[in-house]
Amino acid sequence: VPDDIWAAVDIGGTNTPVALATSDGTIVAEDCIPTLADEGPARVLDRIATALQALGRKPAGVGIGVPGLADLRRGRTLFLPNLTGNWRDVPVGPMLSERLGCPVYLLNDVRMATLGELTYGLGRDVADMLFLAVGTGIGGGVVIDGQLRLGALGAAGEIGHQTLMPDGPLCGCGNRGCLETIASGTAIAAEGVRLMRIGLAPSLHAITDGNADRVTTKEMAKSDDSAIRDCIRRAATWLAIGIANAVSILHPSLVVLGGGVPAIGAPYLDTVREVVRERVRMFPVDDLRIERSILGDKAGLYGGIALARQGHPQETTTHASGIR
Ligand SMILES: [Zn+2]
Repeated sequence: VPDDIWAAVDIGGTNTPVALATSDGTIVAEDCIPTLADEGPARVLDRIATALQALGRKPAGVGIGVPGLADLRRGRTLFLPNLTGNWRDVPVGPMLSERLGCPVYLLNDVRMATLGELTYGLGRDVADMLFLAVGTGIGGGVVIDGQLRLGALGAAGEIGHQTLMPDGPLCGCGNRGCLETIASGTAIAAEGVRLMRIGLAPSLHAITDGNADRVTTKEMAKSDDSAIRDCIRRAATWLAIGIANAVSILHPSLVVLGGGVPAIGAPYLDTVREVVRERVRMFPVDDLRIERSILGDKAGLYGGIALARQGHPQETTTHASGIR
């Protein structure tokens, strides 16, 4: 079937993976190009189009994830705080659509990854699911009744920006004490650096040669400093409290964790599972599964394929399944 090839693009702050896949989610070609956002939207989009064309087959549609807020109906960016250059009100959809000769659909990158999990990952068989991407920040997506819920601006599901500490650290969103400020990879690593500098993390110091730039959650998980282990456990506890809040409101049967932080080791995930169970008391959560993504860092690309197939988010509202 000639129309059975779809394309996905997942614009990131550093890299932009692109892929072609068939409807069943088999990736048939892929590449990853540097984003180089500071060169400006026109050149970035030109390079993305060239990379897609170099994959060798013409897709019937393209799903593209952007790191921030977008006008889904008009295919334009609204606010992409993590990309350098002026990305406000860029007609990404129309520009790429004209160049590639097929429809192009935009979605927030983490919502797109949620759609990937729902369509091709652990969410295939569940009706209600939460997805969290825990890395530099904490993004999220919400699936209810088999539908990715987007809200009026496509911004529903920002689980990482619930307030957990009223007077906590300033967040990139402008609020204080968001979950993201205390449980993201950035927050964990910052605490790791602090503990190393005050002499409470000799093992981490040895692993990183005392170089703060080398302190990541992955390196921290290798250390046997009790202060570092405590720090990771506290971050997992805060994440779990944030998840428990969302679980109490939505009662999903599955929580999928993507991003780099949940991959640092079993103790982290064990703490998250344990604390969520402690903190949701209004109904039994014995059947609630909390799992790491099986799509890993490709969840976004898979979501792009699903988005390309399903078409415009707001045009699918009358369908039995899709995005709403
Ligand atoms: Zn925030």
